[in-house]
Amino acid sequence: MGALALMAGSVVPSQAQDIKFFRIGTGSISGVYFPVGGLIASAISHPPGASLCGEGGSCGVPGMVAVAQASRGSLSNIRDIRAGRLESALVQSDIAYLAVNGKAPFAGKKAVPGLRAVASLYPEAVHVVVRRDSPIKTIGDLRGRRISLDLKGSGTRSIARLVLKRYGVGPKAVAHLNSQIGPAVDRLRSGKIDAFFFVGGYPAPVISQLARDVPIRLLPIDGRQAAAIRKTEPFLGSVSLPASVYGRSAATQTLAVGALLVVAETVREDVVYGVTRALWHPSTRQILDQAPRAARRMRLENALAGLAIPLHKGAARYYRERKLLDGGAPKPQADGDGAAGGAPSKIPGPPAKGAPDGAGGKP
Ligand code: GLU
Repeated sequence: MGALALMAGSVVPSQAQDIKFFRIGTGSISGVYFPVGGLIASAISHPPGASLCGEGGSCGVPGMVAVAQASRGSLSNIRDIRAGRLESALVQSDIAYLAVNGKAPFAGKKAVPGLRAVASLYPEAVHVVVRRDSPIKTIGDLRGRRISLDLKGSGTRSIARLVLKRYGVGPKAVAHLNSQIGPAVDRLRSGKIDAFFFVGGYPAPVISQLARDVPIRLLPIDGRQAAAIRKTEPFLGSVSLPASVYGRSAATQTLAVGALLVVAETVREDVVYGVTRALWHPSTRQILDQAPRAARRMRLENALAGLAIPLHKGAARYYRERKLLDGGAPKPQADGDGAAGGAPSKIPGPPAKGAPDGAGGKP
């Protein structure tokens, strides 16, 4: 055994010992998290032998090999971080808040107090998609219809249930044909379902493709129902999706939530510092600008908007160096509750003064 270990040790190149694997949980391969997570993985990776930063290579963390994994979405990503199956993930800020604060479905022993933020990335819109010629005009009209709310473990499903409830459509009032976004799009196209929910960056490429194949409409979530939801869900904002987004005839008012990059608190401070620095390195811009349009909205100046959970110490160190953090808490932001008013690049969340304690990540 000893001899074997010695032999193995002698054949492994010494630089391999410095490799750090970093798994990023995303969502369905047809969603927005998955391609964005893939680009983030490229931006923060820098395995031994990769071409050098400044010479055409990425400016990632030396020795890091990051990979984006497909998953069911926000809730399952957080559970996988807790179980040590992922180091990091993309998640909705409303779900991250529930996990850290031990609120249902993360109550009691299921709480994940050690979840930490690296950055706020971009706003995700609540899409409720129907065919343009459908008689369904409002969320209330979904009663008795065949719909997809996405799978258990997704953030989409969590918001879909909240929305339906607020419009008085109980879980038994609809016929469920739940799936991730890819199959849901196929079923709407072929007429097997009447509507699907998707909470994600916009335009979502798979929905843009659907809109090219069959004309679609998005149902609005607005008025007193939206106001009532936002009252109990502080991390949801509202957004107006311009008609141009999916080639529709009118803009649609709907709800929005921030997408966060999160990590386990146990990931080393220097590693998370390196990840945060690589994420916002100027060379990363070139990578992100090849991404779905949602990712092009990722900006350092929005990185602390609507964070919902405390920053990781390593990330806080980076933002302090960039003077975006004053000693502790993020600087208050002028835009208040974020996505209101239809500004497409704003990330929802309560004003920074309401940011959770410890958002500054004490050293
Ligand atoms: N926000 C969605 C979720 O957590 C995933 C969105 C995406 O895949 O882009 O379920």
